[in-house]
Amino acid sequence: MVEILAARKQQVLEKGKDVFTIECEKPSTAGSVSQRACVFCGSRVVLYPIADAVHLIHGPIGCAAYTWELRGSLSSGPELHRLSFSTDLRENDVIYGGEKKLYAALKELIGAYKPNAAFVYCTCIIGLIGDDVEAVCAKVEKEVGIPVIPVHSEGFKGTKKDGYKAACEAVFKLTGKDDITPVPKFSINILGEFNLAGETWIIKDYYKRMGVNVASCITGDGRVAEIGRAHRAKLNVVQCSGSMTYLAKMMEEKYGIPYIRVSYFGIEDMSKALYDVAEFFKDDKILDNTRELVKSEVNKLLPKLTEYRKDLEGKKAGVYVGGSFKAFSMVKALRHLGMETVVVGSQTGSPEDYDYLKEITNEGTIILDDTNPLELSGFILEKGADLLIGGVKERPIAYKMGIGFCDHNHERKEALAGYDGMLNFAREVHTSVTSPVWKYSPARIKAAETARVAKERLV
Ligand code: SF4
Repeated sequence: MVEILAARKQQVLEKGKDVFTIECEKPSTAGSVSQRACVFCGSRVVLYPIADAVHLIHGPIGCAAYTWELRGSLSSGPELHRLSFSTDLRENDVIYGGEKKLYAALKELIGAYKPNAAFVYCTCIIGLIGDDVEAVCAKVEKEVGIPVIPVHSEGFKGTKKDGYKAACEAVFKLTGKDDITPVPKFSINILGEFNLAGETWIIKDYYKRMGVNVASCITGDGRVAEIGRAHRAKLNVVQCSGSMTYLAKMMEEKYGIPYIRVSYFGIEDMSKALYDVAEFFKDDKILDNTRELVKSEVNKLLPKLTEYRKDLEGKKAGVYVGGSFKAFSMVKALRHLGMETVVVGSQTGSPEDYDYLKEITNEGTIILDDTNPLELSGFILEKGADLLIGGVKERPIAYKMGIGFCDHNHERKEALAGYDGMLNFAREVHTSVTSPVWKYSPARIKAAETARVAKERLV
């Protein structure tokens, strides 16, 4: 039996056994060593891919080091986002304030790099010492003539999801600036696709083949000018719903642009994402192109997946990711490989998300909200998972348990979206799960011995 903190009992559910509604969207329980990141980190991961902006972290150097290159987000042009800048606040600044340092840093960076915008991230310490970041940004903006945007992301003030909201509020300030540059009739914005390993380019190519123009991608391979004309697209297509639905709602309210939520992972969800856009435009040519695209891509992919499935049939997986839309896609994608998801959870899921997870998983599946390493590793052992899909913080858990790991988070280098991404995903899962190395893992040897002793006792 996995031990669960009393305050977290309603955040862990076993399908078929527990009937309560899972608790979620609340601050992490003290002492549970949550797998979530802080508010600042949440906003940084969303805004970071805007490649022609300066990203300045106002706070001690540790916050900047913690998030430097956290996302691999590729750029087809400028790479300013890959540099990490910090005001590097010290003791004296904490006592006397950091506004002068912030002003000087902004002027120096904007002078040296000539960015098209600057974001200033407020960290915990700014919340404590009370610097007037708004005033400094407004002053610099007036002097240099580019948007200088404060991001209210003090680390302690909520969950990672509050960081997403702060990022949406910041990027929203860039929209609505350009009413002149032509935007084609069938134009969409992609929201919440971060181009970690070139995925934005794969998805853009699909839409191009359908006859749909991507006016802007917020924020993967992002540019300030493109975001400035995003308000003129006809539809917002939200991929990472946890982070970007808030921006879509603000754009709907201000510019009247409707939005849909999609996922680009796995076969069904990828195809649905394309069909949903095609159906929105109600254009015969786009619909025909979409049918043709999906048919040819799926026909190319399925025979290759069958090869991997031969070895993976019957294996079990755990999935713990940031957003629950990705978790849905993982459950379905693993099914295509003959694998069952036995543990699944997210950092930021809503009650509806967990209801849907309950719907698509098998009896006995453990569903977790905002878990911690002890719970996660306990359930992996209890359910006998052969694979864990997660991010940087889940990798060591998988390796300590002696099971395969698939990185589906910010820092991965392999494209996992789209049909090509599904093939990469299958290859990665296959390589990891079938690796001979796991039989030498102490945790696996111990688990096998425990199972053998238990079996002998039963005989
Ligand atoms: S919790 Fe605070 S101090 Fe830590 S990284 Fe986040 S903003 Fe910085």
